[in-house]
Amino acid sequence: MFGIKPASVELSKLRKEVARLKLLVYKDPLTGIFNRRGFTEEVEKMIAAVEKGREHGRSRDKFSLTALSFIMLDIDSFKKLNDAFGHDVGDAALKLVAKTLENHVRQSDFVARWGGEEFVIALLGANENDAAFVAEHLRQEIAGQSLKYRNKKIPLTASFGAAEFKPKDTLETLVKKADKAMYSAKTTGKNKVVKFSGIN
Ligand code: GH3
Ligand code: MG
Ligand code: MG
Repeated sequence: MFGIKPASVELSKLRKEVARLKLLVYKDPLTGIFNRRGFTEEVEKMIAAVEKGREHGRSRDKFSLTALSFIMLDIDSFKKLNDAFGHDVGDAALKLVAKTLENHVRQSDFVARWGGEEFVIALLGANENDAAFVAEHLRQEIAGQSLKYRNKKIPLTASFGAAEFKPKDTLETLVKKADKAMYSAKTTGKNKVVKFSGIN
C-alpha cells in the first residue's frame, strides 16, 4: 500500500538516527574527537576490564589487562594566543593538538577533549612510566610544530600530567591525580611532563 513502509525500514531509519544523535552527544564538534561525556562512557568500560583483569591476575592469568593510566594536558598560554591572533587561530590550535594526539597514540588508547584547551587520554595496559613516556613524545610532537598565521609561525606548547589507576581509584580520582600532576607541570615552568607519583 502507498505511504506505508515495512517496519524493518522504519527500524533501520530509527537506528541510524539514534547513532547520529549519539555521535552528537559524545563528540566535540570543533575537533571531531570525543568529549568528556564520550570519554566517561568508554573509559568506565576500560576500568571495568582492568578491575576484572586484576582479579584474574590473582589467579595468574598473565594475558589479562591489569594496567591503565591517564594523561591530562593543557595548552600553554592559550588565552594569550586567542587575544593576540583571534579566536579562529585559537580554534585552529585546538584542532592541531587534537589531530596530533590522535595520530600519535595507539588504537587501544582513548583521546578526548576534556573541556576548553584541556585534553585527556586513557592508555590501556600502560603504567605511569609508560604514560609519562608517551606524554613526553606527545609534548615534543606538539612543541615541534607551529601554527601558521599570515606567513608567521606561532609556537605552541602544552603541559602534561600522568597518573596510574591504582586499587580504589575511580575515573574521577584518576582524573584528579592526572590533573594535579599537570598543574604541577604548569607551576614549575610549563611545556613539560610531570608524574603524579613524583609530586607526593
Ligand atoms: P596556562 O598556560 O596556565 O594554561 O594559561 P592559559 O591562558 O592557557 O589558560 P586560561 O585558563 O587562562 O585560558 C584558557 C582560554 O581558553 C580562555 C578561553 O577563552 C579559551 N578557550 C576555551 N575554549 C575555547 C575554544 O573552543 N576556542 C577558543 N578559541 N578558545 C577557547
Ligand atoms: Mg591553558
Ligand atoms: Mg585550562
